[in-house]
Amino acid sequence: MKRAVVLGGSIAGLYAARVLSDHADDVVILEADDLGEDGTGRGAPHRQQLHALLSMGHAHLERWFPGITGELVAGGARWGTGPEVQFYVDGVRKAPVPDLRMLGASRPFLESRVRRRVTALPNVRVVQGRAEDLRFSAGRVCGVRYSTAEETSPQAGRTDELDADLVVDAMGRSSRLGTWLLRGGWDHAPLDRMRIDLGYATAVFRRGDELPTTVVAHASPGPASGYQPTLSEPGALVAVEDNRWMVVLAGYTDHRPGRDPAEFLARMRRCVSPLHEVADRCALLGDVRTFPFQESRRRDFTRLRRFPGGLVAVGDSVASVNPIYGQGLTLAALQASCLSAYLRAGSPPHDPAWEYFRRAAVVVDAAWQVSATADLAQPHVQGPYPRGYRLTRWAGDKIAAASVLDSGVNQAFMDVVHMRRHPKSLTHPRVLARTARVLATAR
Ligand SMILES: Cc1cc2nc3c(=O)[nH]c(=O)nc-3n(C[C@H](O)[C@H](O)[C@H](O)COP(=O)(O)OP(=O)(O)OC[C@H]3O[C@@H](n4cnc5c(N)ncnc54)[C@H](O)[C@@H]3O)c2cc1C
Repeated sequence: MKRAVVLGGSIAGLYAARVLSDHADDVVILEADDLGEDGTGRGAPHRQQLHALLSMGHAHLERWFPGITGELVAGGARWGTGPEVQFYVDGVRKAPVPDLRMLGASRPFLESRVRRRVTALPNVRVVQGRAEDLRFSAGRVCGVRYSTAEETSPQAGRTDELDADLVVDAMGRSSRLGTWLLRGGWDHAPLDRMRIDLGYATAVFRRGDELPTTVVAHASPGPASGYQPTLSEPGALVAVEDNRWMVVLAGYTDHRPGRDPAEFLARMRRCVSPLHEVADRCALLGDVRTFPFQESRRRDFTRLRRFPGGLVAVGDSVASVNPIYGQGLTLAALQASCLSAYLRAGSPPHDPAWEYFRRAAVVVDAAWQVSATADLAQPHVQGPYPRGYRLTRWAGDKIAAASVLDSGVNQAFMDVVHMRRHPKSLTHPRVLARTARVLATAR
């Protein structure tokens, strides 16, 4: 194809641009914000929050940017393997999973290296501007209308157009694609929502030699506490570049963490030992940054009857789920891989991309199942309940309890949490039988 235009130059847009560089002569990333070298931008406070990269997300990062792990580590990121990656449930350290590896890097650092790789591709360029509408012709999207975004720019307010064979919506959670589709005489994709009322807070600490064998420590409530923060505060710690720790605390409704540093430190001391130790021994750098996250959302394009050709969507514009489970970066990478498979199969870009949306729905659905099933364990979360929820929840509680005690069960559990396997793999008779044996022995 001649030209592909990607709307949004954050992580999902960058992955999509990388994929499209194999298929289009000219790939344009249209980004409203001036993202700067580190990619934080002004309008994107979520990028400053701790971002964990799941192991499937890392595998796809390397797939699209070979050697990037080495580059990140050379720049100060940490690469955690074996016991350096620690998961706790209800304050108890889970059974080890030897093949679990995780990268310790901040989101701006990771994204800046990805951006550098993508913008170095000879057929990719970035245009700063705000997409305002799509252009349609003969049943397909044939371009995009945009305005110069920067009010200070001498060209501010000017409108321009870009022709495109394929347009990718990577505009994040607040994408206006649905409005544009309606305006063009099409339907918008049905939206599923789950209200969760989550509060998030991230703080950064100076890192010394206090925890030399820890890269990631993650603590969540589980079945022993009824998924409440009574046995240990939920939170996570990641060793990142520039000899820093990033720490996140999370809580629902009236247990949302605030900005007060003293309160943040007190709460870290009620968490598992690595977070406690960092609170006691390391200097807090800068402010505590909070982020409210009211609801998980996903748009299901596969439920539409008609859809224009020349258009796909990726990243948070399709699905944005409870960030506690750390799935967003991995979903963006997996959707990019779905787009690659779709285009490599020879699908004409001007056709409606049903096959892409079907592939992408499988990974979105897996992420939604993991987050929604766990969120529904919170009494304040009122649904919607998926079919068979009570049975799934009952089995999930047993597997979660056994995963603390047994590496085999934990491996199966972590493969799902890290998106290496579909959640249905947990209903395999082998996993269920092992869970039953582990719990019977423990009784
Ligand atoms: C508090 C919090 C913590 C999180 N923690 C994790 C984690 O630990 N691990 C993880 O994997 N994920 C995490 N996530 C999820 C992750 O941040 C998102 O999934 C990810 O940012 C999605 O990337 P995106 O490119 O789809 O959207 P975004 O990052 O939102 O980017 C959208 C881009 O589109 C641009 N844009 C918007 N409108 C227009 C327009 N009209 N024209 C041109 N450009 C436009 C914006 O400027 C922006 O750059 C977290 C999210 C939150 C909120």
